[in-house]
Amino acid sequence: MSAVDTLTETPLGGPTLPQERRLVTSIPGPRSQELIERKAAAVAAGVGHTAPVHAVAAGGGVIVDADGNSLIDLGSGIAVTTIGNAHPKVVEAVQAQVAQFTHTCFMIAPYDSYVSVAEALNRVTPGDHDKKSALFNSGAEAVENAVKIARKHTGKQAVVAFDHGYHGRTNLTMALTAKSMPYKSGFGPFASEVYRAPLSYPFRDGLSGADAAKRAISIIEKQVGADNLAAVIIEPIQGEGGFIVPADGFLPALVDWCRANDVVFIADEIQTGFARTGEMFASDVFGIVPDLITTAKGIAGGMPLAAVTGRAEIMDASHAGGLGGTYGGNPVACAAALAAIDVFENDGMIERARQIGALLKERLGALQAADPRVGDVRGHGAMIAAEFVDPATGEPDAALTAAVAKACIAQGVIVLTCGTYGNVIRFLPPLSIGDDLLHEGIDVVAAALAAA
Ligand SMILES: *Cc1c(COP(=O)(O)O)cnc(C)c1O
Repeated sequence: MSAVDTLTETPLGGPTLPQERRLVTSIPGPRSQELIERKAAAVAAGVGHTAPVHAVAAGGGVIVDADGNSLIDLGSGIAVTTIGNAHPKVVEAVQAQVAQFTHTCFMIAPYDSYVSVAEALNRVTPGDHDKKSALFNSGAEAVENAVKIARKHTGKQAVVAFDHGYHGRTNLTMALTAKSMPYKSGFGPFASEVYRAPLSYPFRDGLSGADAAKRAISIIEKQVGADNLAAVIIEPIQGEGGFIVPADGFLPALVDWCRANDVVFIADEIQTGFARTGEMFASDVFGIVPDLITTAKGIAGGMPLAAVTGRAEIMDASHAGGLGGTYGGNPVACAAALAAIDVFENDGMIERARQIGALLKERLGALQAADPRVGDVRGHGAMIAAEFVDPATGEPDAALTAAVAKACIAQGVIVLTCGTYGNVIRFLPPLSIGDDLLHEGIDVVAAALAAA
């Protein structure tokens, strides 16, 4: 009897799934292959996929496919299912809310859960000043709104983003995003009044945080001018750009400069937020207090929700009706977020992220010591990356990176790549994963690297 025959019904997700890597077919198996073919025929070609699987259940640290394979999940759907897929508290909250009401439009008839999420965000985000929040559907939408708010507050127009930055796929956020292929190429023209400054990238620029900040500020002053600048937006640790951790002192110097020049400092914490980095927010890692902070991804246990949170006097700059959207702060997503934030605050998530970070850094550090192709291992908490290089030149090795990632997926370990040069493998496991699966996942990465 084949594994397909034994899989008589879709397994339940959440922590009830057996926590194991189990390959009963090659990847993709026949049922996954069938879905991939239907996808190719029915779904726009621009919507890609990393792992050629037909997912039917997920939870803890695994994703199960329609062929009965169980894959180790080291990506969390891009840092979204941080508390674990189908977390029981989220499932319960969503089920209760969906039976109550699914939508009124918060701008038509407000409801408690939206206000409660705003109160929670105002409380858990960095800084003890008066804060307000507004809720949206996606990270890109939050970023767009943060820029709108900063412009209205300052009466200025220009926005500075950074090399390697990623802020989304809508028109303004494409302009803010650095990398052309695949995010921007052919999709212009882009929004105007967006400027780019150099980042602190210690592995490649060797600069101290202070010197990197001086370089960035000089370019901002010379090429834009504080008089024209509404906002500086930056990921405290870059996500898609390659998990680049700026040198100490870089971010605080930027915040100080913004504050002295009536420029709104926006921390895009869409990927780094909610315990991911071993702090509730990556801003806490660097001791900075942003004026505005954008959140999404991990905020609601997999339900679509995003937010802008920040200084009340800035958040209140917009006239009534200037912010919002039909679905923004949907009641089901808000119920999920309240459950997820409860888990983040009360179920040891920050501690778990730190443990995962220590384990990953130790294992990947050992790989680096043994193999000069692993040029750098960096990150905080459950947001760790390895950058692959040609040992002779230090040049990025995207081909090696792609080969390792592909081999891992074929062996039942879902890993994501990133980086401007495509030479970084990033590890974003759900915090619900066990140490044994993490070790097994890294074993598979190490074997893939050795074979590549
Ligand atoms: C994912 C991401 C976005 C965009 O979020 P979407 O929900 O995909 O629109 C913006 N900024 C950062 C840092 C991200 O990681």
